[in-house]
Amino acid sequence: MNNPHGIPVLETTLSAAPLAPRYAALGAPYHQPVATTPLTQPRLLHHNSALAHDLGIDADAMQSPALLATLAGNSPWPGYASHASVYAGHQFGTYVSQLGDGRALMIAELGTQDGRRLELQLKGAGATPYSRGADGRAVLRSSIREYLCSEAMHALGVPSTRCLSLIGAADLVFRETTETAAVVCRVSPSFVRFGHFEFFYHRGMHQHLAPLADHVIDEHFPHLHAHERPDRYAAWLGEVIERTAHLMAHWQTLGFCHGVMNTDNFSILGLTIDYGPFGFMDAFRQHHICNHSDGEGRYAYSAQPEIGQWNCSRLLQATLPLLSGSPEQAVEIAQEIHARYAPAYSQAALRRWADKLGLIEVRADDANLLNELLTILHRGRSDFTRSFRHLSRVRTDVNAPAHGVREEITDIAAFDAWITRYRTRLIAEQNTNDTARAMRMNRVNPKYILRNHLAQAAIEQAQQGDMAELGRLVNLLAHPYDEQPDNEHYAAEPPADQRHLEVSCSS
Ligand code: AMP
Ligand code: MG
Repeated sequence: MNNPHGIPVLETTLSAAPLAPRYAALGAPYHQPVATTPLTQPRLLHHNSALAHDLGIDADAMQSPALLATLAGNSPWPGYASHASVYAGHQFGTYVSQLGDGRALMIAELGTQDGRRLELQLKGAGATPYSRGADGRAVLRSSIREYLCSEAMHALGVPSTRCLSLIGAADLVFRETTETAAVVCRVSPSFVRFGHFEFFYHRGMHQHLAPLADHVIDEHFPHLHAHERPDRYAAWLGEVIERTAHLMAHWQTLGFCHGVMNTDNFSILGLTIDYGPFGFMDAFRQHHICNHSDGEGRYAYSAQPEIGQWNCSRLLQATLPLLSGSPEQAVEIAQEIHARYAPAYSQAALRRWADKLGLIEVRADDANLLNELLTILHRGRSDFTRSFRHLSRVRTDVNAPAHGVREEITDIAAFDAWITRYRTRLIAEQNTNDTARAMRMNRVNPKYILRNHLAQAAIEQAQQGDMAELGRLVNLLAHPYDEQPDNEHYAAEPPADQRHLEVSCSS
């Protein structure tokens, strides 16, 4: 492991060849070299062996002191100069002209076994020129939440950044209370955000928009033949807008609330990124606000699709110079692209909701059927995940009791009336039966989600130095759609005293 000089050599632990950097090759003014700040007594608390394997890092390597040092930010990835990128963004509707990687540093660009490229970023690796006076660190609590949720989202099938490792340290970090520092290694094909484009647009540095867009298109939208199509930027932006709409549909149908949907937290690839005060809803409330710091509910559950659309309009504004030399024509093209959001969202959402109801076809009245159910769940504050999961047990036979789901409901009379309409609708489906439908529904209505109280229990144990619950949750959430008889209690509603845990922007 060590060379004769006692310096850990990382290359020997990796089978995947490091790739020629592409994002790093963009250079200034997109990002600048910043060294990571070492942590004291770093300890690998958990790692993602499947993702490590994908990256050509075997089990021994993952446990090696050399890789620990690198993933803690205590030594650089050989041959790669870590860097922080600059971006801006609309935070809670207000434009902030400079944000940037204040505590995230890109430490490597790697290839996977099957030929994809992935970028590695350490979140919490120390201050950067974009820290705006903050400490550049992340606390164990928020790092565990990001680690758990990004992998839970991946297993649910939701596009997301991922996490390779979670490292704890002895350093103290001051938030509302004193906590200990931690760092996660985030992994994504790209960390480019809407806010990257906003930075160059609003500063009048329009000449820097095209190289960044070309990089994103060449690397991540290769089918658009970056330099051949005259309308390549319009085609690309259209896809970004649609991906964003699809992501919002995905979040809504899983009861996931992001919490801080600022444009700097929106991925150009339509991935879920920046896990902060997020939350999966337990009791269903249309206007559920998961972020305690979001008093006005700008990012409430019901507002998410519209905010996604608003964020797309901010991206289109920032990329106007790419669309045409004529400002009027650029606006016209941008409006056409923007118009793709609403139908993309409606179509994706309707399809996903129909899947949750077990409907193969989508019919004209299905939106009403769905809304009636959501109203019943909302009024009774029924558990969102449990209600949909149990719905698969409803039989078309009118004499079969609606086990499970009925127990989640408060207004039984309204629900029984709804079930009658639902059964009629199910019977109208062709070529399917109760068993086949239940199987389909259980593949889209998860049994296990990262409920806040579950994350909290793992955090509290980890803060005492015990990682067992964290490990159990990682394993549980890797199979969210499976029945796991030994883990039934993880699918329960939170106990009464843990229903209103507060999560805020503090991380
Ligand atoms: P967020 O609300 O986490 O998306 O962060 C908004 C901005 O604040 C980003 O530019 C972050 O990099 C920066 N930021 C958040 N927390 C810290 C911190 N502890 N140290 C430095 N920068 C931070
Ligand atoms: Mg952020």
